[in-house]
Order: sequence, then C-alpha cells, then structure tokens
Amino acid sequence: MHNMSNKLTQVKSRIQQAAKSANRNPDDITLLAVSKKQSVEKVRELILQGQQDFGENYLQEAIEKIETLNDQQVRWHFIGPIQSNKTRSIATHFDWVHSVDRLKVAQRLNDQRPEHLPPLKICIQVNIDGEDTKSGVNPSEVATLCREIAKLDKIEMHGLMCIPAKEGTDAFTRMQALFKAVGDEISLHHWDTLSMGMSADLEEAIDAGSTIVRVGTALFGERKV
Ligand SMILES: *Cc1c(COP(=O)(O)O)cnc(C)c1O
Repeated sequence: MHNMSNKLTQVKSRIQQAAKSANRNPDDITLLAVSKKQSVEKVRELILQGQQDFGENYLQEAIEKIETLNDQQVRWHFIGPIQSNKTRSIATHFDWVHSVDRLKVAQRLNDQRPEHLPPLKICIQVNIDGEDTKSGVNPSEVATLCREIAKLDKIEMHGLMCIPAKEGTDAFTRMQALFKAVGDEISLHHWDTLSMGMSADLEEAIDAGSTIVRVGTALFGERKV
C-alpha cells in the first residue's frame, strides 16, 4: 500500500516539475495509469489514492478488470492495437480510445456505441516515426481521417496519440506541430488532447504540450509476463 502511494506521489511530482519547467499549468495534464498486466489489487490501491484514469491494452484482461471494479468511479481508456472484430466490446466498456488508426474502426466504434452512453472520446494514433512495425496513421493522412471521423455523432474526437520509436528524437515536437496544424485546418469542437509520454519520457512529452501522459512501470513496477 505504502509503496503504491509513494510511486503515485513521485510520478505526480515529476508531472508538476515538468509542467513548471514548461510554464504550463499542471492541472492541464492528466495522469493515465497504464494497468496492463498489473493486478486488480494494485488498481484498487491506486483508486483509493484518488487515481481515476486507467489504461489497458489487452481487451480480455481489461474487461475482467472493468467488471470486477464496476462499483468504482473510474474512466477506462483503451490504448492497444484494435482488431475490427473487437470494436463492439471496446465501444461498450470504455470511455476513451487512444489507438484509432483507420476510418473503418472509427465507424464501427460509432455504430456500436450503446445509445445510453455518452459519445466515445477518441484520439488518433499517429505513426510519427514511420515505423513498419507500428500501428498508427501516417502524419500526412491525419487531417483527411479527422475530417471523416468528425462526421460521426457517437464519437468525440479529442486529438492525437503516439508511441515514438525511441528517446532523444524530436517526435514529440513533431506531434505538437501536427496537432496544431490539424486543429487550425479543421474546426473541431473538442480538439484538446495530445496523448504522449510514458514512464521514461514524460518530461519531454510535457515540454512538447502533452495533455495525457500514459504511465505504467513508474507507477506499478515491472509488469507480469
Ligand atoms: C505499456 C504502454 C504504456 C506504459 O509504458 P511504461 O513504459 O510502462 O510507462 C504507455 N502507452 C502504451 C500505448 C503502452 O502500451
């Protein structure tokens, strides 16, 4: 218990410091606790410490946690690769999806979002370093995709997400520029989110305007495999 709360305090203070160095308001940065391959008990401890946003990559594992913790006030974010035959389950169980990378997936999430739930909040995943192995949209295709997704009424498009190839490149500043360019080009009502930065590089991401940092190991320790 003490260990979890220490780690949460440490990560929050890293966010505060990074915001301060970047002349930003720390309240504009959301900490997303990435709980993939971590136990429900650890998630529960973080909830007790006031953590409200949790990210999951693997659908089956995520749904088990979501159902076990359904009495809790938690926002669930799906951040993993999306197979199109899994969209119904994602649209039913999650508040946010960070990893939308094609129109077909957005359309299915839109059509399958249950009527009684608010619109699903999404980010488009950008393959910012043009890696063959990584999912995500090519930066040059982001604006076109955004225009199409903006027509869907059960989807609320908030911004962009990336997982850079490695540290020490300017991937985050390129994302920041792309985010601004798309926002200037298309008028989008909820264009307010840059999901980038993880345990190792959240400071650089915050310096480049990140509004959601996705932190796993720095909060929970190493993942079970
Ligand atoms: C696992 C994962 C994270 C968290 O990574 P850490 O290095 O453990 O902080 C963040 N984003 C995505 C998309 C992930 O898959």
